[in-house]
Amino acid sequence: MFKKVLIANRGEIAVRVSQTLQEMGIRSLAVYSDADRKALHVMRADEAVHLPGAAPGETYLDQALLVRIAAEHGADAVHPGYGFLSENARFAKACAEAGITFIGPQPDVIEAMGDKIVAKRTLEGSGVPTIPSWSGDTANPEALAKAAGEIGYPVLLKAAAGGGGKGMRIVREPGELQAAMEAAAREAQKAFGDARVFVEKYIERPRHVEFQIFGDGKGNCVHLFERECSIQRRYQKIVEETPSPALDAALRARMGEAAVAAARALNYRGAGTVEFILAPDGQFYFLEVNTRLQVEHPVTELVVGQDLVRAQVEVAAGGALPFRQEDLAQRGHAMECRVYAEDPARGFLPSTGQLAQFSPPWGAHVRVDAGVRRGSEVSMHYDPMLAKLVVWGTDREEARRRMAWALRRFVVLGVSTNIEFLAAVVDHPAFAAGDLHTHFLDEHPLTPTPETAVDDPVAIAAALATAGANGAGEGGVPTAERDDSPWQQGRHWRNV
Ligand code: ADP
Ligand code: ADP
Ligand code: MG
Repeated sequence: MFKKVLIANRGEIAVRVSQTLQEMGIRSLAVYSDADRKALHVMRADEAVHLPGAAPGETYLDQALLVRIAAEHGADAVHPGYGFLSENARFAKACAEAGITFIGPQPDVIEAMGDKIVAKRTLEGSGVPTIPSWSGDTANPEALAKAAGEIGYPVLLKAAAGGGGKGMRIVREPGELQAAMEAAAREAQKAFGDARVFVEKYIERPRHVEFQIFGDGKGNCVHLFERECSIQRRYQKIVEETPSPALDAALRARMGEAAVAAARALNYRGAGTVEFILAPDGQFYFLEVNTRLQVEHPVTELVVGQDLVRAQVEVAAGGALPFRQEDLAQRGHAMECRVYAEDPARGFLPSTGQLAQFSPPWGAHVRVDAGVRRGSEVSMHYDPMLAKLVVWGTDREEARRRMAWALRRFVVLGVSTNIEFLAAVVDHPAFAAGDLHTHFLDEHPLTPTPETAVDDPVAIAAALATAGANGAGEGGVPTAERDDSPWQQGRHWRNV
């Protein structure tokens, strides 16, 4: 087994990985930028090395520097977390060349799945249903128009190198196609340094249902069931759960088989996710494979009862898969909300500042994966996700009510957060009914009510004490700039 693992990441996922390493008796080696000197992930690690600078390019994305630090500090493996270098085949290769194990899939698998066109081609014929699509010469207007017409409108234009929901465009009319393609290619070039765009059938009112897969790189592959991630804002997930309220046993079995077929076709090693679009008619289609640990992995951990980071480490160290398909079962229901430092009242603009108060809820079956603590600085350098609030219940309604309870006891001061917005999502009758699709948030404009505000007396007392001590406007918004939007009015407890 490894003796020391460098975690090439920051925030909640670096904290999360550190915990499992320490439980396994492996030393965790953190890295940190100038902006992260006092970050929680540094405090929690056994050792930490400074990466001079603040920009990701000169710190968490500097491949040569990270490999050198791993070697110099005696790390025998690197865990990349998610984001940053986690899906970078060159980095995986550079680690291997330095004699350091990259905790993730084989570099050629990462590379193939990082390109949505190659990924589809690789998995065609392996028993994985793909969406009708075309990836011909997009610079040829006639060929493009013909292909889109054959697929049938609406179509979706997607960047081959895309990720994080960026660079997608829906085209509903043939007349919009040419201009949309040119704009999409420009955007793709700018965001990913790769202008290739392809055309896909756009599925109306779909659900996003993904399957957790695991392989040992020696032919053994399993799935750990699904996660429903249909609650998205701008194609980015914000609430996830498992089991999916849309799957019955038969559909679950069929989708699970397709996910494992994809894993087999890749001789997959480590943790991965096969993402599907599920149409209202029950047809499902392959979207992409994410070759890493997913942000929302905790809901799977709670329902399946496995530590996915531990399994990643064991497989990377050359061990067998710690579970067989027949040993895996879903027990109860888990839900996750992503808590962001952002302001729903201002178009979800990221909110920065020092956390005057950070007091997550605790209680039965409540898990908080956080990357910050009280006093932490939330800067504009990185992703504004503060924490993931995850709950378990015996069934969906119990989990939902527990989430509603926990959100109302999650106090954050110093920056604006989406906590009350999340409470409004979880309270919504359509959410309660499990009637989800990826445009849920467009279809159901959410109005905050006094009921979505934090109402725990202990939390309120703490919040008021801190706010009073600071004397300043809380929520990261200077008092003078506060508006009378519903979101502000909903925060009645702050005006006590
Ligand atoms: P999921 O949320 O399902 O785990 P995402 O696609 O949202 O997957 O990505 C997870 C993390 O990786 C997010 O922090 C996101 O910002 C980051 N990420 C995803 N794709 C890219 C990319 N192409 N470049 C940089 N960061 C990315
Ligand atoms: P990314 O790499 O950015 O995660 P995905 O292909 O996984 O890209 O798509 C992200 C989201 O975009 C999906 O979760 C879904 O909401 C939406 N989406 C993608 N493809 C389609 C499609 N063909 N029809 C409808 N929605 C889609
Ligand atoms: Mg995706």
